[in-house]
Amino acid sequence: MSQRCIIVGAGHAAAQMVASLRSGGWDGEILLIGDEPSLPYQRPPLSKGYLGGEMTQQQLFIRPETFYQKHHVELLLNTRVSAIDRERKTVSTNKGEALDYDRLCLATGTRPRRLDCLPGAALNGIHYLRSAVDVERIRGELAGTKNAVIVGGGYIGLETAASLRKAGLQVTVVEAAERILQRVTSPQLSEFFRRLHREEGATILEGTGLAEFVGTNGRVNAVRTNGGELLPADLVIVGVGVEVNGELARDCGLEYDNGIVVDDYCRTSDEGIVAIGDCTYHYNAHYDRRLRLESVPNATEQAKIAAKTLCGKLQPYNSLPWFWSDQYDIKLQIAGLSQGYDEVVVKGDRESRSFCLYYLKAGRVIAADAVNSPRDFMQAKKLIQSRSGLPEEALA
Ligand SMILES: Cc1cc2nc3c(=O)[nH]c(=O)nc-3n(C[C@H](O)[C@H](O)[C@H](O)COP(=O)(O)OP(=O)(O)OC[C@H]3O[C@@H](n4cnc5c(N)ncnc54)[C@H](O)[C@@H]3O)c2cc1C
Repeated sequence: MSQRCIIVGAGHAAAQMVASLRSGGWDGEILLIGDEPSLPYQRPPLSKGYLGGEMTQQQLFIRPETFYQKHHVELLLNTRVSAIDRERKTVSTNKGEALDYDRLCLATGTRPRRLDCLPGAALNGIHYLRSAVDVERIRGELAGTKNAVIVGGGYIGLETAASLRKAGLQVTVVEAAERILQRVTSPQLSEFFRRLHREEGATILEGTGLAEFVGTNGRVNAVRTNGGELLPADLVIVGVGVEVNGELARDCGLEYDNGIVVDDYCRTSDEGIVAIGDCTYHYNAHYDRRLRLESVPNATEQAKIAAKTLCGKLQPYNSLPWFWSDQYDIKLQIAGLSQGYDEVVVKGDRESRSFCLYYLKAGRVIAADAVNSPRDFMQAKKLIQSRSGLPEEALA
């Protein structure tokens, strides 16, 4: 009897899972269930080229429709899995079906954290940016928009700010923390991006929270900061972090802690169920701690590992986290995680638009931020992986 693998969530991790299952020898059925209307697509361009109108929806797709046909992958799009019955080995959908599985893969990702508690949160013109549909809605409002406020100065907020500046809008970024990018990087890199955005004409307000959204006739026209300042805003985009789509896993009793807990082989606490991508909480040997990562490289890598697990060829996960961000003419590449560093070494000139920051802990390189310097990024990855120490002068 042919076995059936059901994958829940049709994003980055799922698209890789399908390909790796087939290349790994899975010859049973594959059923991919996703609640969005389109084929799995790339999310990174959403705040970059897709928002800027430089890419079509077809160009977003990770693989064309013919790929799924050729590899006999059944797609159930526009369909939400509402529950998992682990005893019966079935998933229920919002369309009233109960589907049997032999193996289940959870690739449910995350969703934006919302600011629904603020006054005015239901006004039109306030957007979140996670899906292609979100971006299409935003793009539909750009004509005639003069002032945009971006709430949140993380990577997605800053990329959005850069795209809207390029589109000719007046852009203000409001960040509640002391500095933009505070959660993810050093004061030196925050300072670089603050300067970059100001040079490009955006306004960056740090240490500034939001008190309310203000509007007339059901549409936003300003936001009020917690200091009482009224900022004009025909369009607001909120990027204040994410929450895990973890309800399915929690409700069926899988071990859960800041995400779906998986072992080195992407197995959850139920050995018939694997989990991959942004929704997982997993151990990383490079940093000797558990992590939940929001990155395409991690989603792709975990999918490869989980597919091997389901094909009976166990291989442990051992990847170095890495990320990237594109803003204006800057390509930032991040190798590793800098949290806990005790020293920063600068290679190159921070006043220029090409340099690298190395983060050290007890003399060892643990992470690097490479600004328009792909060679440094590649070298940093090797250095971190080799766990070697290098004198400061040699790095610089
Ligand atoms: C605007 C933006 C820019 C980004 N830029 C970068 C970048 O530059 N570099 C980078 O590395 N990463 C970037 N990321 C992060 C990256 O996109 C994610 O890490 C990646 O998409 C994770 O893949 P995933 O498959 O785990 O989750 P997702 O791609 O989020 O896919 C999960 C899918 O599951 C669906 N789903 C959830 N629950 C259910 C259910 N019950 N039933 C059916 N379907 C369900 C969701 O709707 C979604 O379609 C960006 C993200 C965004 C939003």
